[in-house]
Amino acid sequence: MKEQLTIKERVRITKRGIGILNQYCPGLAGGKAMSAVLTAIQPLTSVWISARIINELAGERRMEKIVTLVVAVVLINFLIGLLKSMIDRVTDEKEAEMWNFFGKVFSDKAMTMDFADLEDAKILQQQKAASENLFMFGNGLGQLVWGMNSLVNATANIVFSVFLVVTLFVSHTGNAFMDSPLWIVGISLCVWLGGLSNSKATRKENKVFETWCNSTVWFNRAFQFFGHELSNTPERAKDVRIYNQSGAADRAFQKMKERDCSAGEHVLSMATYPSMAAVAVGIGNMVCWVFVVLKACMGAFGVGSIVQYIGALGRLGSGVQDMMFVLADNEVYCRHLWGLYEYLDIPNRKYDGMLPVEKLVFDEEGNQDYEIEFCNVSFRYPGTEEYALRNLSLKFKFGERLAVVGKNGSGKTTFIKLLCRLYDPTEGEIRLNGVDIRKFDYDEYLSIFSVVFQDFQLFSFSLGQNVATAIEYDKEKVEQCLIKAGFSERLKTMPKGVDTVLYKDFESEGVEISGGEAQKVALARALYKDAPFIILDEPTAALDPIAEAEIYTKFNELVGDKTAIYISHRLSSCKFCDEIAVFEDGAVVQRGSHEALIQEKSGLYHALWMAQAQYYEVG
Ligand code: ADP
Repeated sequence: MKEQLTIKERVRITKRGIGILNQYCPGLAGGKAMSAVLTAIQPLTSVWISARIINELAGERRMEKIVTLVVAVVLINFLIGLLKSMIDRVTDEKEAEMWNFFGKVFSDKAMTMDFADLEDAKILQQQKAASENLFMFGNGLGQLVWGMNSLVNATANIVFSVFLVVTLFVSHTGNAFMDSPLWIVGISLCVWLGGLSNSKATRKENKVFETWCNSTVWFNRAFQFFGHELSNTPERAKDVRIYNQSGAADRAFQKMKERDCSAGEHVLSMATYPSMAAVAVGIGNMVCWVFVVLKACMGAFGVGSIVQYIGALGRLGSGVQDMMFVLADNEVYCRHLWGLYEYLDIPNRKYDGMLPVEKLVFDEEGNQDYEIEFCNVSFRYPGTEEYALRNLSLKFKFGERLAVVGKNGSGKTTFIKLLCRLYDPTEGEIRLNGVDIRKFDYDEYLSIFSVVFQDFQLFSFSLGQNVATAIEYDKEKVEQCLIKAGFSERLKTMPKGVDTVLYKDFESEGVEISGGEAQKVALARALYKDAPFIILDEPTAALDPIAEAEIYTKFNELVGDKTAIYISHRLSSCKFCDEIAVFEDGAVVQRGSHEALIQEKSGLYHALWMAQAQYYEVG
């Protein structure tokens, strides 16, 4: 986090923060500002009208004027109160919801950042620091929302009070000393000093609070994990019970207690500074009051104006103090916002070309024709020294079936991740019809792939929405895809057919499905996308080898003339493919059809085939 920020930087940071608020929570900042102006106006109009009433009572006592003023004060208070409570109602609701929208700030960034950065430990740390600060303490955007009220309120208080206090200095007593314009400087100084001492106190208090916040980040993270995630997520709850991890959680809580993260020792110092400031404010107020009363006693104005000046000077004092407080606070949240912007501004380094894919993939008659080539591709994951892929050269043409087999960790998934441009090669080039894939528009390039990853994810939406990955979908097409993926029997038991919601996160009537069923839904999703290129990356790991082989063979019929890549460490699943590439330690060590590879008795494929054949019948 940046320690020192210039005024210019703070203005820029605050303006950007307000921009973010307006984008994600429209109306919140504006509503707060309007409410703050009304809060400032209300007492000052009362003070001004009360002064007029008292002056009238002490002077001519005209009944109709007094009644008019009383009606005016009641009416103005009523209208301001009504307007303010209407605005507050709306903004309170928006404020309660703002945390969800702040979450969207982070998810929008995560959605658009380079995939490689999502796994970068330094960037993860940056994201964690910014989000923990925001969601645990409101630091940054939360403080900006709360500070907005005080900023506008203080400004309005200062402006309106100055307006009410001007006549104090232009009214004359006839005494040169009391009428001296130097009093303007003197009274301003008294008001200013009160504000200054308050601001100093606030800064010191903020520093202590910041230190305390920083020291409790570990506590909060641990609490979140042991108090919430460990016990409340069903996925973890199974292991918690089996391995009796509640004991570990208890011990962690105990340790946290021993760490004593309470504000304890800080309470006294945090309370001392404001009380010292209060003494300075009291002395300043006293000087102002004595000056007003003396001027009134010397005949400069009537008794009603005493009420106006003392009321307005009080408001001016608190306005200046609030302003100082707001500025001291602004310094703190600007530092937190800086940290947030550092995360939000992480650039996308991945080169995104402009070339449309369509021209290269479809010829003039609309037929697809393309070829993908890995040219001497090597790849290391960010922050690692080991190569996950080494000097990979591989070519496959439209309509081909390619199987990628090999032991765990041999680089099969990495090969797919590179093909889908989730990462770019460290060395070498991947080409689509002879053109480096980096030159294509990224979204367009991705649109030619349907991939079912090993760790695919389904969402707590309806079955149809999961298959179509859209809110609106073609019901018939969804059903067809589910049937093709082997989900027809289960579909019949779904209470609302394709409209049945999966899982119980959002709906108590949501339906839980097994791992194998989820895999079929994921396969249906790939079919629904109807992309020219289809990839199955061991999505059938939860199935037994025979069932997996069945699905792969069936899927092969379903994909028709599309290009398909099948990944599996079970060789029997892929033997129907035109070509099999055998991966070992990030390199392709063998290529050919099943029949050809099985003949190479000294090859890895033969060894793996024989090893697997021991456990089940492959034929
Ligand atoms: P396979 O799909 O054949 O099981 P992978 O492509 O997943 O193999 O992994 C290849 C190698 O890359 C392995 O050594 C694995 O540990 C490593 N690896 C995979 N993912 C990452 C990652 N996100 N960061 C660092 N190393 C990784």
